[in-house]
Amino acid sequence: MSTLEIRDLHVSVDTEQGSKEILKGVNLTVKSGETHAIMGPNGSGKSTLAYSIAGHPKYTVTSGTVTLDGEDVLSMSVDERARAGLFLAMQYPVEVPGVTVSNFLRTAKTAVDGEAPKLRTWVKDVKKSMNDLRMDEGFAERGVNEGFSGGEKKRHEILQLELLKPKIAILDETDSGLDVDALRVVSEGVNRAKDETDAGVLLITHYTRILRYIKPDFVHVFVDGKVAEEGGPELAERLEAEGYDRFLPAKAKA
Ligand code: ADP
Ligand code: MG
Ligand code: MG
Repeated sequence: MSTLEIRDLHVSVDTEQGSKEILKGVNLTVKSGETHAIMGPNGSGKSTLAYSIAGHPKYTVTSGTVTLDGEDVLSMSVDERARAGLFLAMQYPVEVPGVTVSNFLRTAKTAVDGEAPKLRTWVKDVKKSMNDLRMDEGFAERGVNEGFSGGEKKRHEILQLELLKPKIAILDETDSGLDVDALRVVSEGVNRAKDETDAGVLLITHYTRILRYIKPDFVHVFVDGKVAEEGGPELAERLEAEGYDRFLPAKAKA
């Protein structure tokens, strides 16, 4: 049983105009087996939360805490965070030219586990996960993210999720740019990972459609850098019907 605990988190980003506070006191607790959807309008700070937990150097935590099973995540290096059991699927995954998917996955697995996976089971596991995600076998020999389509990037993220078996997974806009078939395949992958490892999932999404396939236990609405409302799955249904209008500042009268 694992718990990711975010307490009164304030984060600033460095811009050309100086430092700007983006997260203004975020509180959130994610436990093993729970799926939390973070929803909210564009620019509300959802990705900033993901990057901050992942340790992206552009984001400075000015106050508050993030702990995983009581351990201070914010004092860990990016590698240590992964070893501690955090997984972050980047919204815009980077290219790693010259490194094949196959080598990348094995290196990542070795880094996270602290030992190389046994070759025979590893090859079998990779094949099974790729097959489940309807990925062509030749995909393993391609360069990481080199010329990947949007759908291939997302499948690659979920492939990592399935193989690395994190305690807590943070998925940012996993649904963006996917057609309905790809969305279903990717969602099934997330659900398999949840079932197999009892991972806690923080699912960040602007749109409600992925929540038809991945059922959230809790929904948190982000507005202007903090959680403005929380509820169960019914809150997502309400957002689907009403959008975010009631959370946004009233427009100036003409
Ligand atoms: P969301 O993911 O909810 O759309 P983001 O976390 O991407 O929101 O952005 C929140 C706010 O922070 C936006 O106003 C955005 O312009 C700003 N911001 C985020 N990252 C940076 C950055 N690296 N440089 C400057 N501004 C940023
Ligand atoms: Mg909660
Ligand atoms: Mg975002």
